[in-house]
Amino acid sequence: MDQEIYGFVGVGNMGTPMAMRLRQAGKRVVVYDPNAAAVAALAASGIESAASPAAVAGQAGTVFLSLPTPAIVSAVATGQDGLIEGRRVRTVVDFSTIGPQAAVRVARALAERDIAYVDAPVSGGVPGARAGTLAVMVSCPTALYTQLQPVLATFGKLFHLGEGAGQAQTMKLANNLLSAAAIAVSSEAMVMGVKAGLDPRVMLDVINAGSGRNSATQDKFPRAILPGTFDYGFGTGLSYKDVRLCVDEAETLGVPMVVGAAVREMLAITNASYGPESDYTSMCRLVESWAGVQVRG
Ligand code: NAD
Repeated sequence: MDQEIYGFVGVGNMGTPMAMRLRQAGKRVVVYDPNAAAVAALAASGIESAASPAAVAGQAGTVFLSLPTPAIVSAVATGQDGLIEGRRVRTVVDFSTIGPQAAVRVARALAERDIAYVDAPVSGGVPGARAGTLAVMVSCPTALYTQLQPVLATFGKLFHLGEGAGQAQTMKLANNLLSAAAIAVSSEAMVMGVKAGLDPRVMLDVINAGSGRNSATQDKFPRAILPGTFDYGFGTGLSYKDVRLCVDEAETLGVPMVVGAAVREMLAITNASYGPESDYTSMCRLVESWAGVQVRG
């Protein structure tokens, strides 16, 4: 019997290590990405490539997506040369963060061709993608979830959040608002301390032993801000997109987000100052530039 083929569209920061994990688990994998260098880098590991999303969907029954924006997911799934034109695909598992409304729209469009859409955003960053320790938030019918569990476990810890597309996206937006908020407000606290003469390493030790500890003080500051590398591995443009989607969704639901809106504006200014390709830890550079000090050590 032929070995089952898995498709993967979008092999960027997250998609590359996730496709590698499938391959390391012995699966046959076919990828598409317009970035030829990213595709070529996977060839040495025996990962095959196809010329379009439609070509991937012509070979693979299950296709994974890890794409930057709702518009790109929509185009890849249902546009010209999109997955919808492939004959073999039955299930599309979307790891991208696109917000609940886009997830529902894409799920409906695919359902018209009897293709199931699995809403499956992930958290845990590039290190989690490499190690297979991501939090994988899944919403789809229970029977399909049960069927996909073994392959999804390749990527990390699974959480089944509901039956319909969109619920996992809402969960992911809540998580990413908190992740960005932690960097924004920790940057303000750290810059203030440094300007007053405190040692940033000692500040982090105290905060992490106390009630102020959070994912920024425990992980982002030591890894990407104190060394001045600003290379944690998550783009400002992507974080800005996530927080924008989150505040928009809260508005739709009638939930005021005062702090969320402030975090969105911090990301808007970081995006304008350092560009969408900069790392989201660059929020600290912004506060540093306003205060005229640097948080290094
Ligand atoms: P990335 O920008 O590194 O990768 C996106 C990839 O999609 C690129 O290789 C790009 O060439 C490709 N792409 C763009 N347009 C395409 C198209 N039309 N067809 C096929 N491929 C196309 O982004 P990333 O950091 O890997 O993030 C991917 C998704 O995962 C985003 O939705 C992001 O919000 C989410 N996410 C990222 C992280 C992280 O830490 N980087 C963590 C969790 C979730």
